[in-house]
Amino acid sequence: MAKKQFKTESKRMLDLMINSVYTNKDIFLRELISNASDAMDKLYFLSLTDNEIEVARNELKIELSIDKEKRAITISDNGIGMTKQELDDNLGVIAKSGSGEFDKLNDTENKDIDIIGQFGVGFYSAFMIAKKVEAVSRAYNSDEAYKWSSEGVDGYTLSAGKREQTGTTITLTVKDNDEQNSYDEYLEEYKIISLIKKYSDYIRYPITMDRVKSRLKEGTDDEYEEYTENETLNSMIPLWKRNKNDIKDEEYDSFYNEKFYDYEKPLKVIHQKAEGTTSYHALMFIPSKADYNYYTKNYEKGLELYSSGVKIMDKCADLLPDYFNFVKGVVDSEDLSLNISRELLQQDRQLKIIANAIEKRIKKELSEMLEKEREDYEKFWKGFGLQIKFAIYNSFGANKDLLLELLMFIKASNGSLCTLKEYAGACPKEQKYIYYAAGDSTDRLNLLPQTELIRDRGYDILFLTDEVDEFLMNILREYDGKEFRSISSGDLGLETDEEKTEKEEKQKDYKEMFDFIKDSLKENIKKVTLSSRLKSHPVCLSSEGALSIEMEKTLAAIPGAEKELKAEKVLELNSSHPVFEKLTKLWEKGDKEKVELYSRLLYSQALMIEGLSVEDPVKFSNEICELMID
Ligand code: ADP
Ligand code: MG
Repeated sequence: MAKKQFKTESKRMLDLMINSVYTNKDIFLRELISNASDAMDKLYFLSLTDNEIEVARNELKIELSIDKEKRAITISDNGIGMTKQELDDNLGVIAKSGSGEFDKLNDTENKDIDIIGQFGVGFYSAFMIAKKVEAVSRAYNSDEAYKWSSEGVDGYTLSAGKREQTGTTITLTVKDNDEQNSYDEYLEEYKIISLIKKYSDYIRYPITMDRVKSRLKEGTDDEYEEYTENETLNSMIPLWKRNKNDIKDEEYDSFYNEKFYDYEKPLKVIHQKAEGTTSYHALMFIPSKADYNYYTKNYEKGLELYSSGVKIMDKCADLLPDYFNFVKGVVDSEDLSLNISRELLQQDRQLKIIANAIEKRIKKELSEMLEKEREDYEKFWKGFGLQIKFAIYNSFGANKDLLLELLMFIKASNGSLCTLKEYAGACPKEQKYIYYAAGDSTDRLNLLPQTELIRDRGYDILFLTDEVDEFLMNILREYDGKEFRSISSGDLGLETDEEKTEKEEKQKDYKEMFDFIKDSLKENIKKVTLSSRLKSHPVCLSSEGALSIEMEKTLAAIPGAEKELKAEKVLELNSSHPVFEKLTKLWEKGDKEKVELYSRLLYSQALMIEGLSVEDPVKFSNEICELMID
């Protein structure tokens, strides 16, 4: 029979499986059981929406058997089955749950075990313990069965098969022991039973196995007879339906780890049971860190949705608002009508009610975490804070009231995270604004000369290090009656009215010199002023108008963005600095050439302080050298 070839990426995955790069071989059974369970969900779901199909729920089950002599394990289900085409399509390609992702990761450094663990390894995981895998399947509505068979990377065959009933039987021929590994264990009943208990206990269909047992023969005291009992191995009660008080933390954790392919414990478990007009069980998790693809467009939000224990959808996106899209979990409700299409379900009133309740609950949990489990909350914030910020920004502040209290920023005084409420609460009475400094690193922000005077007053500053931050501030505008104010734009409100007038007067004295400096710096500068924010530094840049220097940088970095969008830069000079004194002396002497040179140097320094590059570094360096040998 002609062999069919696996797709390239499938081959790679298979290769990893066969050579057992992924060390946790035990999971093969979980994967196959989960496929069987999915297949039965699909069939049952179909029967609810299609009157032609009749399925008795209580007849759906998964049967396991072990044949030591043939080294065979079979997993048989009476689910939806696969047509010949489906066998070809579904088993000839890599696990769907991870396909796209895995493909992309192949070119990166990390095509290793950890990555594999992050998505379902799926059907191919069977090759971790099997030298040969066969799937005999008969699709519902069809009277033909087909057999898919493969011994590994060099391909697979498809042929006619035999099956009395709709469903699929997977037969694994277990590998022979080699130097590193013993596979015999998988042919032991106890091992298989323990794997079911560990990974598949919550499967909502019975997983059965014929077990040979012995009992006292009737009418005798010491004669035993063997008999076979069909035993159900799993408890079938989904974790989310169990009573919270009876569930151990480890049970939640391992459920989460297995189901959502995360090695780490969840940061927070939210187990909710709602009763009333709409009743449902929800078991949700906040991961302890963002998925590797969380901030990409490949990330798909959603909760698994069940209706009366029947899975309707893997990822029901409508159950989660975008700002809580990191939450993973399961929702099960008896109040959702099953026999409507998935499209219509999205408009379902009950579903909307559940989504609203879930959103409120997540918010409440986060607020409580912030209050009572600070360390955890900060961990949460590091992983998902950016998403919360984006959510406020992208909705033009529509979710502001809901999310405002969740925001955190680094504060200058000690480098730790604080909420706006905490910042405002610690403000001295006379402080007019909430100050912030935007830039890519806190180290640089810490050294900004513009912060000195503010700090001298004992006012704290929020450090904004994400690109979206300053845009966010523009949308928020104020908190608790205090406007947000960048340390490098506008009036900082540090001076009294008298001081202001005094400065304006003084400014007039230098008008000619400032005009000259501005002219020598050409288009770069909108104006030159005396500074009210500098203490020990001679110069800094500030900006006027809506666009700040940081925003200009951000916009410039967006491919294809309008490069013309520039901040209106102001060169601020510190009149109490010796350099200023020198400058005025040169001006009075009429040494315009030197004033021009100084202007250029001061401007370059101001640029560097802002983390911008000097326009002509060679010229800058030469001019410094000139001064050094002067
Ligand atoms: P996933 O379950 O993530 O889709 P798998 O590699 O586990 O990926 O399975 C691939 C596909 O093969 C499934 O999506 C399903 O369509 C099909 N499949 C696997 N096992 C069965 C089964 N027992 N019954 C019906 N279809 C199956
Ligand atoms: Mg699967």
